[in-house]
Amino acid sequence: MEQSTPASASPWRVDDGPGAVLRLITTGQARTRTAISEVTGLARSTVGQRLDALAAADLVVETDELVSSRGRPSRALRLNPAAGLMISVDFGEERTRIAVTDLATTILTERVMRLALDDGPETLLDIVGAAIRDAITGAGLDDVPVAGVGLGLPAPVDFGAGQVRGWSIMSGWDGYDIRSHLQQHWRVPVLIDNDVNLLTLAEQRRHWPDQTHLLYIKAGTGVGSGMVIDGAINRGAQGAAGDIGHAHINGYGDPQCRCGNLGCLEALVGGWALARDLRERGREGIHDARDVADRVKRGELDAVARLRSSGRILGEAVAYATSLLNPDVIVLGGLLSVTGDHLLAGVREVIYQRALPLATRQLRIVPTRFRSRAGIAGAGYLVRDHVFDPATLDRTLATGGSPFGTLD
Ligand SMILES: [Zn+2]
Repeated sequence: MEQSTPASASPWRVDDGPGAVLRLITTGQARTRTAISEVTGLARSTVGQRLDALAAADLVVETDELVSSRGRPSRALRLNPAAGLMISVDFGEERTRIAVTDLATTILTERVMRLALDDGPETLLDIVGAAIRDAITGAGLDDVPVAGVGLGLPAPVDFGAGQVRGWSIMSGWDGYDIRSHLQQHWRVPVLIDNDVNLLTLAEQRRHWPDQTHLLYIKAGTGVGSGMVIDGAINRGAQGAAGDIGHAHINGYGDPQCRCGNLGCLEALVGGWALARDLRERGREGIHDARDVADRVKRGELDAVARLRSSGRILGEAVAYATSLLNPDVIVLGGLLSVTGDHLLAGVREVIYQRALPLATRQLRIVPTRFRSRAGIAGAGYLVRDHVFDPATLDRTLATGGSPFGTLD
């Protein structure tokens, strides 16, 4: 049954158009014609029309896998990962990773570079742009259309404007129009987000798709967090949501933070702060978070003890967030979280003491399942969510257009 159609809209309602059907397939909610029909309530013939539209755009393919649902088995449908490329850029303090992936976020080719972030946006975006072209050409992918570019930055980001806002380690980037710079040459969507938001998105989309409330804590050189609420990243009013590293924590002597304030969470539990503490106790050769993590992995007792106590301090901040947000799952990531259970144990201990029983009854507190490249995956999911937004995709397909574009 078709709906009456305003002139500018697509010839179907967004919630049962091809875009919605594609979303059911990519999220795994429905993988066969029968299942789609059951979930949406659409007639099989209408489901067939939606799938025809998606197949015509090369977005969905029928696989050989047979899935049985009520009666005879039917072929599983899936997103055609080869229909387009996604470009992910993960800017980091130590290194910047650039990857070209398929639509399933599988990496096809990548480059890792050491870039000084304070060289400023114009210089660095040109270097990154050249590296992306080089990677695509080197992998023989010049003829494949591009869905979009996702960038993660270690700074607060105004997502709508695509700009860094306020103080961060990316000096010179505040207010710079990153999207316009890249779109001088690229006719594809460019999406820019805070790096921890991308880690959060990657974790939820890939490993916890059925948990729609997820809190992610990154404990590395600095400390940050991200949150998925009702299935979507929450960025706050100015893009600063989750920036807990510079929240003040009382009772630990107010050490100097690198932001200029005193007693920030990061100045107590960030990797750089742990390195500072261990040096002050006479330990030599400990310069940064990586050195601290190495000492912990080797089982050096003072490093282990310091990490465990910092887990308890971090736990105080996370306990407040738990009471406020009531997440299904808290994921701990970052360099300091992959050193065994020391940090996790401290965090768990305090959360179960402090947060209310209702908020913790079903709560899981777990380490990240990514070994690396979570930022790359997150940038890919960001692009995919944007390009395959049901309303946007329906409009594109209704006009016979392609959801993909080209570089140059
Ligand atoms: Zn600070």
